[in-house]
Amino acid sequence: MKRYLAAWMVALALVGFGRAAVVGQGGDTPEKHIAAAKDAAGTQWAGMFDTLCVQSLGRIGNPPAPGAGRGRGAQPPGPPARDSYHMEPVKVFDNVYWLGTKEHSAWAITTSQGIILMDAIFDYNIKDEVIDGLLKVGLNPATIKYAILGHWHGDHAGGAKALQELGTQIIMAPADWDNIEKQNPSYKPKKDIASTDGMKVTLGDTTVTTYNTPGHTQGTVSSIFTVKDRGQAHVVAYWGGTMFNWINATGRATGEYVGKPESYWFSQYAESAARFRKIAADAGADVYLSNHTAFDGTKEALPKLAARKPGDPNPLIVGKESVQRYMTIVGECAKAGALMAK
Ligand SMILES: [Zn+2]
Repeated sequence: MKRYLAAWMVALALVGFGRAAVVGQGGDTPEKHIAAAKDAAGTQWAGMFDTLCVQSLGRIGNPPAPGAGRGRGAQPPGPPARDSYHMEPVKVFDNVYWLGTKEHSAWAITTSQGIILMDAIFDYNIKDEVIDGLLKVGLNPATIKYAILGHWHGDHAGGAKALQELGTQIIMAPADWDNIEKQNPSYKPKKDIASTDGMKVTLGDTTVTTYNTPGHTQGTVSSIFTVKDRGQAHVVAYWGGTMFNWINATGRATGEYVGKPESYWFSQYAESAARFRKIAADAGADVYLSNHTAFDGTKEALPKLAARKPGDPNPLIVGKESVQRYMTIVGECAKAGALMAK
């Protein structure tokens, strides 16, 4: 364990000295990839660099003490208080409403034939935020035809069952339909549509193209779609799962990361990130969105969008180069992790 921790500290120290310290070392090293991620992040995505390359990689070979975070009674049973998560809906593009919580996002894309929903937050707040949120902005939740889930975890798939009761068809990749079947969480929806790589989900005048990007989970789905901002078309790259949550989790008998070393999951994530980075470039993506408000600038953008005046820029339109830099960060941090982990 000490060896990996030491490698990580060396890597961070080298990053601290800037690029010059790592140039000319030769070979493939974690510090090279961490430096590349830091470069790509700049100040705009510094938070994401810190989350993935510093905090997450810092946990490699460094499991929490047994019992930590459990049995301390800090978290009362049942859903958290509404005040702790609730947010009002915000119209973010001509054809997109954000309907989420302080930490989690669902996005309603309006089309000429109804709504495509991106992600479905928790079972306990889908009604408060998505269903009632749509009513608040004058839309009918019964017109959500499809919900595309980035992956099967409860903070994005929890609301799926309630949506099915409204007539929504749930779309997930086959591997996450398998995951949800095997893990059998209380929020498990009935199986509707298994997405395929490059599948076009078309509703009226709008198409969302889904890609299989295994990494965060084996069935993580990332998407490309077009939005309009004050009449101008922009392309969204939507990354369906961000964190390296297999770290120290590969030994859990019932988990989804069993049977392979941590380095495998890191490499798989890095490959998916590189591939989706190119897909985003080819599509001309100039907007980066995800399902966590802290990961894509949504948290800072929402108050600005809610108060946006004519002539104000849309803070979610970050530009093509910024979208590429974002995908570089997540991919390079994963490459570093693959070299640091067993
Ligand atoms: Zn997740």
